[in-house]
Parts: sequence; structure tokens; C-alpha cells
Amino acid sequence: MSSLFVRTLRDDPADAEVPSHRLLVRAGYIRRVAPGIYTWLPLGLRVLRNVERIVREEMDAIGSQEVHFPALLPREPYELTNRWTEYGDNLFRLTDRKHGDYLLGPTHEEMFTLLVKDMYSSYKDLPLSLYQIQTKYRDEQRPRAGILRGREFVMKDSYSFDVTDEGLDASYAAHREAYVRIFDRLGFEYVIVQAASGAMGGSASEEFLAVAENGEDTYVRSPGGYAANVEAVMTVAPEPLSADEIARLPAAHVEETPDTPTIETLVAVANSEHPHPERAWTAADTLKNVLVVLKHPDGSRELLAIGLPGDREVDIKRLEAQVVPVEVVAFEEADFTANPLLVKGYIGPQALGVESVSGVRYLVDPRVVDGTSWITGANEQGKHVFGLVAGRDFTSDGTIEAAEIRAGDPAPDGSGPLELARGIEMGHIFQLGRKYAEVLGLKVLDENGKLVTVTMGSYGVGVSRAVAAVVENSHDELGIVWPKELAPADVHLMVAGKDDAVFAAAEKIAADLDAAGLTVLFDDRLGKISPGVKFKDAELIGVPTIVVVGRGLADGEVEVKDRKTGERENVRVDVVVAYLIR
Ligand code: ATP
Ligand code: MG
Repeated sequence: MSSLFVRTLRDDPADAEVPSHRLLVRAGYIRRVAPGIYTWLPLGLRVLRNVERIVREEMDAIGSQEVHFPALLPREPYELTNRWTEYGDNLFRLTDRKHGDYLLGPTHEEMFTLLVKDMYSSYKDLPLSLYQIQTKYRDEQRPRAGILRGREFVMKDSYSFDVTDEGLDASYAAHREAYVRIFDRLGFEYVIVQAASGAMGGSASEEFLAVAENGEDTYVRSPGGYAANVEAVMTVAPEPLSADEIARLPAAHVEETPDTPTIETLVAVANSEHPHPERAWTAADTLKNVLVVLKHPDGSRELLAIGLPGDREVDIKRLEAQVVPVEVVAFEEADFTANPLLVKGYIGPQALGVESVSGVRYLVDPRVVDGTSWITGANEQGKHVFGLVAGRDFTSDGTIEAAEIRAGDPAPDGSGPLELARGIEMGHIFQLGRKYAEVLGLKVLDENGKLVTVTMGSYGVGVSRAVAAVVENSHDELGIVWPKELAPADVHLMVAGKDDAVFAAAEKIAADLDAAGLTVLFDDRLGKISPGVKFKDAELIGVPTIVVVGRGLADGEVEVKDRKTGERENVRVDVVVAYLIR
């Protein structure tokens, strides 16, 4: 360690919010260059290589073949799939000296599809699976938490190519199993959840989430085994009423409800001035209409109104998952000024919809089925309408899954109430289907000599993110606690003492361990550095086994400490190597 390129820090970096970011910087694994852009130092690079090795071994084991694409890519393929535009601000675009447009690859579906098209033409060549471990670039809006969400990051991406749907199912299943093995080996707690397939289109799609309080993803689980990212949860809607039943419902009536711009104030006034005959009104009896602006990749803005029960908020991530690649931005004062028919605080469904006076697109929560009756805005200052019935008094332009999911909500498959938890997306597998192959013309001749479009799967693992996710999952107040397979070394060997005999004994142990095939991080720093400082560094760096050569040497013993459990044991110096390789 006297020559190792590392400098541990006593203090947390000012911009670090989560443990992995804090500890990886302090222990000398990574170093910030710019927001979301990090340098890997020697220790960090060793861990990153260990993750890569695990991923490579498991990909190779399912017969996937490694290739390596450039990160610098031409515009044309991404133009064909429209992702040059759809990726919006997330794409790093650049121009070469001849004014040609280029990009830094955020993901490589187009390139893989075209490569296979270039080289293969028969069903006999398939199935095929290719992967790469490569640096990706995304100009993330909120780079965050060090390498957890970088703008430059390492991803393993792989793609499967099949002629038939059954073939795709098999390729998908093989990848799923490989991912289970990868994440088992990475050694953190994870869940497999149904996912929204987002910008990629396609159908079957699952995510591997590391269970972590600091995660940006929320997922749900039911006692009966349902598990999904909240973005993918479908609302359980009540049965709509028949036309006859709807006809028997009382007519809607507009009431004065002064000073009720919020749901809370509205419910209070409803109960005091217009009480329900049998029970108290609650927020769930109200229909609130939330306005947002959709920003399309081409820069155009579209207004959208979302109608949902007043006891629920709009979940922006769920909404965004529905409208991707469109971005959701706030509806501003200026938008109200431009749309005087929308009365702030009193907007009702009768003024909404593409066919309505306002022309604003109106999508409702799936719970707003025909026959449901609502208290909602009357489109006049200080007035609400009671008993406004969906399907009778108003219609919408469709439904949208944008309302928050809450603990206790029913699972869509009837498997019980949902519970919520947070996680970090570590891997994503999905059946892309024929979308990319269609657009880019990847066809092969089938058994009958007929040209058929290939069906694809696309699979990603966040390799650099995994380094951080492991730390999130495995650290204590002293520092990082690496699982064996990922640690930058097998043994952290330190000298606690100044005399030459101690140092010589430690050097011999280091050489013997090395000869036995173990990697050693040898803290051979001399001089001013106290044993206390060396201990602190060892705990911070987090190698699984710490060996201290010090005072005990006089009795022929060294101390072996397990970083994880904190257990210490004195071991005879002549057997310590055998003890450590067991
Ligand atoms: P997220 O929802 O976290 O932005 P994504 O769905 O856009 O991720 P994919 O396109 O599915 O990500 O990429 C595959 C994997 O790459 C993800 O599962 C994740 O582990 C990793 N990844 C994606 N974006 C980043 C990033 N900005 N920094 C580090 N790893 C990332
Ligand atoms: Mg994803």
C-alpha cells in the first residue's frame, strides 16, 4: 500500500447523499470528474473487473458470444428507429469535422440488429445471442449518488435473435436464469418484478431490483407472489354499471362551495353544507382533475388533464412510464392564462376532453368506470357539482395508469393486498419482439425459403451500478464490507509495529499468500502512520479478511479479523497461510 495509488479520506465528500457514494469516494475506489462522471482508481477497477468477470462467465455459460461496439455511433441507425429524436435531451449528440451527426451510445439495439443483418441470412444461423460489456452515455436529468446513476456508466447489454416466438421465449428464459446466477453471485438481496417496457416497446419484461431503501424504484409485492415495479401495476377497477342502473341514479346538481380550492376544503364544506344522506363524504368521493404538460421529443407541448379519485395523488413516475418517451412537466400559471376555460381549483370533466370546449385531452384513472358518481369541479369559481356520473354526464378520452399505488391496494391478479418497498434497478430483461428487426429490415429465410422477420430480446445489467449497489447492501458504520467474489483483494495485511522482525514476518506472509494464489493488499506503510490509522483504513476499504502482524509476533502469533463479523482470532504465524486458504 505504500506504493498503491490510493488516498483515503476522513471526511465525506460534500455532494454525497448515500452510503455507497460516500464510502467509495472515501475509501479511494472512485473519484469524481464531473456530475455523473467518475474515474476508477486501482481498487475500484479491481471490483469493477470482478463484476465483469461474473457477468462474462454467466453470459458465456448460456452460449452468448461477446462482441464490442464503439461508443461513438453514427446518427442514421437511430434515425431509422426514431430514437435520435425520442431519446430527447438524454442523448449526447456530437458533430464531426465534416458536419456529420454522431451520438454516444445510450444502448445498442440498432447496432446489434444491423450487425446481424449484415452477416446472417438464414434460419440456420439462429438462434443467436450476443453481448458486450461497454460504456454507455446518457445525459441523465438527475445524475445521482455517484456511480448509481451516472452519465457515463458500464452496462452489459445482450440481444437474442430467434425466428419463432417460442424461440424468443426460450432465449428469454435462458437469460433470466443467467441473471439469477449473476445476482446470486453478486451477493445482494434482490427481487424479480414485472416491469413496464418503456421506451423500448415490446411485451414481456422483468426487472431485477436490489432491495435498498435508497433505491429510486418502488416495487410492490403481494402475499400470493405477485411482484411488480409500481410503474407496471394495473389498477383493479370496479364493475361498471349497466345503462339501466345508470338511468336510475339521481341527477347531478351544482352547489355553491366557496373557498374550496383543495380536496380537503371541499370535503369539509360538502359534509357541513351538503351532507351525504347515509354517511360522511370522503376524499375518495371527489374526482380531482390534475393538469400537466406533456413535452414531446420534438419539443412540442401538449396539455393533459388526468381525472382521479381525490384521495390519490398522481405518481409522476407511473405517469411518465405510460407516456414515454414524452416528458411530463409542470402546468404553469401561464398555461391557465392561455386557457381561461380552465378555472383553477374548480376544473370539472365537462370542460375537458379533445371534443370539449377546452380541447384539453382528458384521461381518467381506471376506477372512473361508467356509473361511478362524483363530486367534482363545476368549471365556475366557488362551485362544485355533486352526483356527476361517468358515462352519463361526462366521458373521457381514455384511461391512464397514473395514480399512486398504496400499501393495501389489491394485487391485479387477486393474490392479496400489496406491500411497497424500494429498490435499485440492476438488470432488465425484455422481449423486444419484431419492432427493431422490422424497422431495420432484419429478415432471414425460413425452412420454406420464405423471408421472415427475426424476433429479438434485449437484456441489460448495470455493471458499474452493481459496484455501488453491493456497497449499499453491504457496509457498516466503519466502511465497506465486500463479499468475497467482489473484493479488491482476498486479504488485507497490515503491520502494527516498527521493528524489522515484524515487517519481515509480514513480508513473508504476503509472499506466501501470493504464491498460494490469494491476492493481498499489503499495508506496508512505514513511518508516521499509526496502527490506528491503518486499522481505520482497513475497515473502510472492506477487504473480507484483515491480518495484523504486530505485538503477538513475539509469541509466534498474528491476528486474523473477519471484516464482516468483527471476530478476531490469534493464529500461529507458521500456519496462517494454510489457515487463510482453507
Ligand atoms: P433507470 O430506470 O434506472 O434509468 P433504465 O430502465 O433506463 O434505468 P435500461 O435501459 O433498462 O435502464 O438499462 C439497463 C441497466 O443499465 C439498468 O437496469 C441499470 O442497471 C443500468 N443503468 C441504466 N441507466 C444507468 C445509469 N445512468 N447509471 C448506471 N447504470 C445505469
Ligand atoms: Mg430499465
